[in-house]
Amino acid sequence: MVVENLKQVEERVKAACERAGRQRDEVTLIAVSKTKPVSMIEELLPGGTRDFGENKVQELCDKYEQLPKDIRWHLIGHLQRNKVKYVVDKVCLIHSVDSLRLAQTISEEAGKKGVNVPVLIEVNVAGEESKFGVKPEETEELVRQIAQLPGISVRGLMTIAPYVEDPEENRVHFSSLKKLSVDIKKKNIDNVSMNVLSMGMTGDYEVAIEEGATMVRVGTGIFGERDYSKQA
Ligand SMILES: *Cc1c(COP(=O)(O)O)cnc(C)c1O
Repeated sequence: MVVENLKQVEERVKAACERAGRQRDEVTLIAVSKTKPVSMIEELLPGGTRDFGENKVQELCDKYEQLPKDIRWHLIGHLQRNKVKYVVDKVCLIHSVDSLRLAQTISEEAGKKGVNVPVLIEVNVAGEESKFGVKPEETEELVRQIAQLPGISVRGLMTIAPYVEDPEENRVHFSSLKKLSVDIKKKNIDNVSMNVLSMGMTGDYEVAIEEGATMVRVGTGIFGERDYSKQA
């Protein structure tokens, strides 16, 4: 089932790239495996899937231990500073940096482990009150401050768009994140590359690709609905 779902998502990613006049290899499909068992991830490995997304540090570390080391783990959820030390040497990209304090902690822990940690700045483009993420107008300043820190590199921006019935409603948010990344890229800030745009989930990844996403994060569309009732 998981392999079949992935195939269908892959078809839609390809079609969206074609509509947008983009190459398929410009877009990384991240399979968001949070709450799902290791066995489901293993089903996708023979087909070559290596990018997986998790939103909890403990779960990412557990799966990291059990699965092949060539998997690229993306931390996509809110990250608490006291947990940074567990993940800096396990993840290929942290998508959810939204404060200087968090970036400083990542920088310090990266120094201790002798690694460099690529990160994205999470931007709250829709202005939703309950959400994490910096305001669009505060993004450039945060990028500039993080750019000064050793052991951490800003690679681009990420957003979590609102849940909507019609994905077209999110087009405006995706295009404004794209515009923001282009604006910041033009500033040519040292130690910053603005090449990654992580946006789009199961309900709206095709629209996100049309608007310039270079990473889409798809969970339900690949692994099926999540069941949170069994968790503590
Ligand atoms: C859970 C999650 C996703 C995947 O959501 P689906 O709607 O299941 O595709 C993507 N991004 C983030 C940040 C998430 O927490």
